[in-house]
Amino acid sequence: MWQRGAVTDSAPLDVDLALLGGGGAASLLLAALDRHDVRDLRIAVVDPVRRRGQDRTWAFWGHPGTDLDPLLSASWQQVEVATTARRRVLDLTPLRYAMLRSGPVYDQAAAAERRLDATRIVAPAETVTDDGTRVLVRTGDGRSIRAGWVLDSRPRPPARAGRTTWLQHFRGWWLEADRPVFDPARAVLMDFRTPQPPRGVSFGYVLPVSDRYALVEYTEFSPDLLTDAGYDAALAGYRDLLGLDPAGLRVREVENGVIPMTDAPFPARPSPRVVRLGTAGGATRPSTGFTFSAMYRQADQVARALAVGRPPVPQAAYPRRHRWMDAVALRALDRGGVGGPDFFDRLFDRNPAERVLRFLDGVTTPAEEVAIMNSTRLLPMIAATAGDAAHRVRDRLRPTRPAPVVPPAVVGDPLGSEPGGGGAPRPT
Ligand SMILES: Cc1cc2nc3c(=O)[nH]c(=O)nc-3n(C[C@H](O)[C@H](O)[C@H](O)COP(=O)(O)OP(=O)(O)OC[C@H]3O[C@@H](n4cnc5c(N)ncnc54)[C@H](O)[C@@H]3O)c2cc1C
Repeated sequence: MWQRGAVTDSAPLDVDLALLGGGGAASLLLAALDRHDVRDLRIAVVDPVRRRGQDRTWAFWGHPGTDLDPLLSASWQQVEVATTARRRVLDLTPLRYAMLRSGPVYDQAAAAERRLDATRIVAPAETVTDDGTRVLVRTGDGRSIRAGWVLDSRPRPPARAGRTTWLQHFRGWWLEADRPVFDPARAVLMDFRTPQPPRGVSFGYVLPVSDRYALVEYTEFSPDLLTDAGYDAALAGYRDLLGLDPAGLRVREVENGVIPMTDAPFPARPSPRVVRLGTAGGATRPSTGFTFSAMYRQADQVARALAVGRPPVPQAAYPRRHRWMDAVALRALDRGGVGGPDFFDRLFDRNPAERVLRFLDGVTTPAEEVAIMNSTRLLPMIAATAGDAAHRVRDRLRPTRPAPVVPPAVVGDPLGSEPGGGGAPRPT
């Protein structure tokens, strides 16, 4: 008879569901299983790290009224999109833009894990062998798990190189001001007044949680990372652009990250009983790097399926036509046919904000997508479409190239000096 925790080298732990990776996607999944009252499954969670505390901040849009509402640090009905030509204030009703820090998400998942009576294995999953009816997982501490299904969110490169490979890379400062300097009623979604890189797009953004406390971030969509000093200088430049006086600010936390932006394939179902979730499963939108909404949606779909005894297979994170449109847009941005600020400015200028945001989440109708496409510059997009088609043909004819590995984020010494930062405040 199966016993929870009775794991030895010779006796695999038998479970219905093994979650490999316990980060964002798995945390949302555990919460969804709990929410949908999935109580009769044997679950194992395998991760060498037990995720806790603030290691990232998720910003996303959606309808209010979900189980995430009590966990939010802030939400905004209005957001700004700024270019050198204008500042546009968008009313997102009926959606809202929201900020969720990782700590409450991991806490919610830990509580769900306890209620689901899941077995936690603090070790890396190393080999995964799917025989079509069961999956055998071997972990780094010599144990093995025999699972009915594996939900795998371990970070991994795509199956092969994409036609365009960019990175979304960023550094953010949690700034505390000694007087009111932020407008908590409004977030800055994208501020393209930052100096634009020779190849790529840059923007800043501001997510205020009060009039004295905000996450201020500098982001690039481009092929290569900056140096530590480069991020500090860019962020200090953006702070100055916002008119914030460094003397009245303290950096309370620093957040760094790198997210893949590529049209390379992330197979979501590598074998019959293995389903990939999160970034590894294609939940990261190639044209924006936004991932959270797709992870949340897929977690809910998996939990609903399991609650009624169906296989835990979610819908694709994004429809195929969206992935194609993203490939074309990425190509147009990368090959210089379209300027990033102009591209996003036109999207928000010629469409209701809600339509653009739903499009970026992959949930618009084909008619809405035609309207979105009509708001981009026609000739460069036609050129990018033709280039993409030719590239696909070339890819079929030549051997598969491996995808480059996503590099780790550049993490500077948070207490060190900030060269080129123009007197940027130091974390205290
Ligand atoms: C700093 C940062 C900020 C972000 N902000 C946003 C945002 O605002 N909005 C948005 O939509 N997206 C955002 N993203 C992108 C995306 O939402 C996150 O990366 C999200 O955490 C992805 O979830 P995941 O489960 O795919 O990966 P992760 O959360 O990275 O989880 C992967 C897990 O796998 C574990 N693991 C690694 N190797 C093994 C192994 N061998 N065996 C078992 N487990 C293993 C890791 O320890 C980790 O816990 C951000 C990303 C970063 C890095």
